[in-house]
Amino acid sequence: MENQQFSGRVGLVTGGTRGIGRAVVLELARRGCSVAFNYSKSADEAEKLKAEVEALGVKAFAAQCDVASTEASAEFVKAAASELGGLDYLVNNAGITRDQLILRMKEEDWDAVIDTNLKGAWNFSKAVLRPMMKNENGGSILNMASISGVVGMLGQSNYSASKAGMIGLTKSLAKEVASRNITVNALAPGMIETEMTAEMNADFREKILASIPLARFGSVQEIADAAFFLLTARYITGQVLQADGGLAM
Ligand code: NAP
Repeated sequence: MENQQFSGRVGLVTGGTRGIGRAVVLELARRGCSVAFNYSKSADEAEKLKAEVEALGVKAFAAQCDVASTEASAEFVKAAASELGGLDYLVNNAGITRDQLILRMKEEDWDAVIDTNLKGAWNFSKAVLRPMMKNENGGSILNMASISGVVGMLGQSNYSASKAGMIGLTKSLAKEVASRNITVNALAPGMIETEMTAEMNADFREKILASIPLARFGSVQEIADAAFFLLTARYITGQVLQADGGLAM
C-alpha cells in the first residue's frame, strides 16, 4: 500500500552509505521512491546498498561525490535526475565531526566541518532547485541538523556552527522557494546509535544518557521515520523538528 503512494517519486540522500543516511535511503525505497545517494569513500557499501534498493523494486543511482565541491554536487544532481527521471525529495545528510576545544582546534578542522556540513547542504540545495521547480507537485528539502546546532555543545564549535548554519539556511530557503511549492525543513537528532556516536568515550556516554528523558539513544530507523514525515508533509515549511528523546527541551 505504502509503496503505491510514492511510486514514481525520486529522492536524493547525501551521505547514504552509512548510519542515518542509509536508513533514509531504505525508507524512501520501501515507500516506492527511486533513490540516488552519494558517499565519500565507501564504494563497497554503496554497491551493496544500491543492490538492496533495487531488490525493493525501485531504481537506484549511486556515485562518489564530495558534497563540499559545488561543481561535483551540481554534476551529481544532474546525473541523478537524468538517470531516475526527475527529483522530488532532497535530504542533506552527509556530515562529519572533528571535535576539539576551540583553543586546540586546527583551522583545517573548522574548514572541513563547515565545508562538508554547511556548504555541502547549500551546494545540493542550489543544484536541486531547477529540477524540483519542474514538478507539478513541487518538492521538499530536508536538512539533517543536530541538537548541537540548537543548544551548542562543548568541543563542537565547528560542528555546532555548521548545524546552526543549516537551520538558518533552512528558514531562508523556505521563504525563497515556498511560492514554487517546495518545502524546506530541518531535523535535529539528538544522540543516535551510529558510527559517529560509537566513537564516544564511555564516561561521556553515561553522562549524556543520564540527561535524556527517554533514557536511551535513538535508532537510525526512528530518524528515517521522522525524515519521511517531514519530506512528505505538504503544509510544514521552515521548521526544525527535534528528534532527541527530550534531551534539549
Ligand atoms: P555517519 O555514520 O558518520 O555517516 C556519514 C555519511 O556521510 C557517510 O555515508 C559518509 O560517506 C558521508 N560523507 C561524509 N563526508 C562526506 C562528503 N564530504 N561527501 C559525501 N559524503 C560524505 O553519520 P551519521 O551518524 O549517520 O550522521 C548523519 C547525519 O546526521 C550527519 O549530518 C550528522 O551530523 C547528523 N547527526 C547525527 C547524529 C548521531 O547521533 N549520529 C546526531 C545528530 C545529527 P562514507 O561512508 O563514504 O564516509
